[in-house]
Amino acid sequence: MKFTVMTLFPEMVLSGLNTSIIGRAVNAGIISIDAVNIRDYTNDKHKHVDDYPYGGGAGMVMMAEPIYLCYKDILDKSSQDGSEKKPRVIYMTPQGKTFNQSMAKELAKEEELIFLCGHYEGVDERVLEEIVTDEVSVGDYVLSGGELPAMVMIDAISRMVPGVLTNEESGMNESFEGNLLEYPQYTRPEEWMGKKVPEVLLSGHHANIEKWRREKQIEKTLKVRPELLSGAELSKKEKDFLEQLKKIK
Ligand code: SAH
Repeated sequence: MKFTVMTLFPEMVLSGLNTSIIGRAVNAGIISIDAVNIRDYTNDKHKHVDDYPYGGGAGMVMMAEPIYLCYKDILDKSSQDGSEKKPRVIYMTPQGKTFNQSMAKELAKEEELIFLCGHYEGVDERVLEEIVTDEVSVGDYVLSGGELPAMVMIDAISRMVPGVLTNEESGMNESFEGNLLEYPQYTRPEEWMGKKVPEVLLSGHHANIEKWRREKQIEKTLKVRPELLSGAELSKKEKDFLEQLKKIK
């Protein structure tokens, strides 16, 4: 899978994504991450990429033309590489749909994605209308630029690309899978600061461990993200367990 990021700060994007699991996937050739500097596409001799907003108001707005030329160049290169389909273009914006795990899964099916990172006050609306297919936010807060959000998305999407996680790291039991948060994890030593690892985890009894973990998932989700539970697939016994928890609460 190929990610291309249109940004004013390509080093930020590349250096943030070349470590750990994502860096390993890039090195193994399972995914590729390219960051293209929008500033390289300005015709202005001072390399300006932004200007004052029409109608007045605070801050600067990124101009349409450099972003459009940058996009065109990325498309040209990708069609030279044999890609026929026009890739989706995701504009990172606090005004977009909030990113989540199921979006990450869906986007992981694409062969190629382009991200547009805004800066300053934002981007001239006309170029957004012209090239953007999806507007995505990472949450209800305003950041200085789209780089961190694009990095967040690329990390989460990459984990859903087959081969990026090893079997041991498998995303199968992770938070949000099946609309539940993950169960608590423990590692050695067996006792730390007087706190013991739950007995059942040392028992080697797989069915009991599985049951305990599911119950912990339900408990945690009810406690902090109860709205997720309506979409969770629970067995009859698990539903009863949930009802009991609600009563105690
Ligand atoms: N004036 C705009 C915010 C601009 S913030 C508004 O009020 O809507 C500058 C840039 O940072 C945006 O263009 C966007 O690319 C990025 N950004 C800021 N917050 C974001 C968020 N929550 N999710 C995704 N991108 C964000």
